[in-house]
Amino acid sequence: MNNTQSTELIFELSKSGRRCHRLPACDVPATKPLSALIPQAHLADAPPPLPEVGEIDLIRHYTNLSARNMSIDTNFYPLGSCTMKYNPKRHERLAALPGFANLHPLQHDDTTQGMLELLFEMQQFLAEISGLPAVSLQPAAGAQGELTALYVAAAYFRDKGQTHRRKVLVPDSAHGTNPASAALAGFETVTVKSGPDGLVDLNDLKAKLGDDTGVFMITNPNTLGLFETQIKTITDLLHSKGALVYLDGANMNAILGITRPGDFGADMQHYNVHKTFTGPHGGGGPGSGPIAVRDFLAPYLPAPTVVKDGAKYKLNFDAPKSVGRVRSFFGNVGILFRGYCYIRTLGPDGLKEVSQQAVLNANYLRARVAEGFTIPHPGPCMHEFVATARMPELRERKITAKDICKRLLDFGFHAPTVYFPMVVAEALMMEPTETESKETLDAFADALLKIKAEDPEVVRTAPHTHIVTRPDEVKAAKEPILRWTPEK
Ligand SMILES: *Cc1c(COP(=O)(O)O)cnc(C)c1O
Repeated sequence: MNNTQSTELIFELSKSGRRCHRLPACDVPATKPLSALIPQAHLADAPPPLPEVGEIDLIRHYTNLSARNMSIDTNFYPLGSCTMKYNPKRHERLAALPGFANLHPLQHDDTTQGMLELLFEMQQFLAEISGLPAVSLQPAAGAQGELTALYVAAAYFRDKGQTHRRKVLVPDSAHGTNPASAALAGFETVTVKSGPDGLVDLNDLKAKLGDDTGVFMITNPNTLGLFETQIKTITDLLHSKGALVYLDGANMNAILGITRPGDFGADMQHYNVHKTFTGPHGGGGPGSGPIAVRDFLAPYLPAPTVVKDGAKYKLNFDAPKSVGRVRSFFGNVGILFRGYCYIRTLGPDGLKEVSQQAVLNANYLRARVAEGFTIPHPGPCMHEFVATARMPELRERKITAKDICKRLLDFGFHAPTVYFPMVVAEALMMEPTETESKETLDAFADALLKIKAEDPEVVRTAPHTHIVTRPDEVKAAKEPILRWTPEK
């Protein structure tokens, strides 16, 4: 990162009369004055106060702005739980092929057979990888996948006359979207504690499990990067009470081709195609959160799904028990497309290797970080691990997890996920993914260890090389200023 980037706003560069380009004079004769065509009330008194700049200034302005962000193409990005792996550029080339890119979702099935075939196969791949046979590609994010699956569960219980199953159990280490989805779907959430080992506390689960339990939402490996070794006992327990098990499959990166949620007892799961299967993300979308469910839940999936009828692919709207549509058209097809390319490129053996390498990288980084930081839960880890900045030597010098993350920016690294999961104080959650080299992991670990020993004042006032340093995140979220307004 350099700090020579222009901080000037495009409005400050404005000089009256400057233009990027000039249009020729209008050669269509005006038959009527504008005021006769548009009601006076809708006509502006004066032109809008837009910046007046030359083309080169405009290009420099936007190019400089674009270079201010960190991205997976520019920096190591170990954002835990978010799986910021490299997004192969080949996928972009393929997704841009005109035969795919120029399709319109309202075209007749006969003219979209190639895309339908791709989506049909994607459904099959996701069914195979999860061990859950019925798939909906519609949800446009992991969170929406959770919500959709809970709608499916609610419809199933309604159908069976079990509307008393009002509760959804969620471990305290879960992603915040889990309880939010449960509440939005009309359930009441009940938190299940984790034990000191970071795994679901079985006794607490048993105490909270009842005839009113509808669904247990579990993340496995969990957000501490630990595999829930009791998973089969847990799913059997839930099933013995007639409840369903939901697997938050946002991060399948540790288990692809190694184990399957359907095999360890999950009844439903979502995927994050934009995490595990390399859909580009990190700037707020677009996402893709398809869900996979057991046979007996298939009738409730959103319609349409893609089906094969003889040699022809078509969209099936004939689903009387469906929870209905959760997104326009067929989901985020562009992201599903990239995920499809990824799965086809790697094949079953390649996907398994992805997970093996992701777990190896995480354990290597874990060992390096442990040279200077406490990692509260025992290893080995799966695709990620959680360290803590709640250490006496950091506390004495008043250095927080946030300070460390801000300082990492000066070293050219994106921050890990911070203050999540909530079960670890001053959490630093790191997920290196399989696409990083040993050299990068070493450089990152070295930076962390160096920051820990630095002058606390330097760390507390970081970053020193960025234009935006420590914005008020709560204010930014609560009172976003999303457009420029001219000064009065
Ligand atoms: C990212 C994530 C989600 C939510 O996915 P979105 O696409 O951001 O809605 C849910 N659970 C876990 C564990 C995640 O990491």
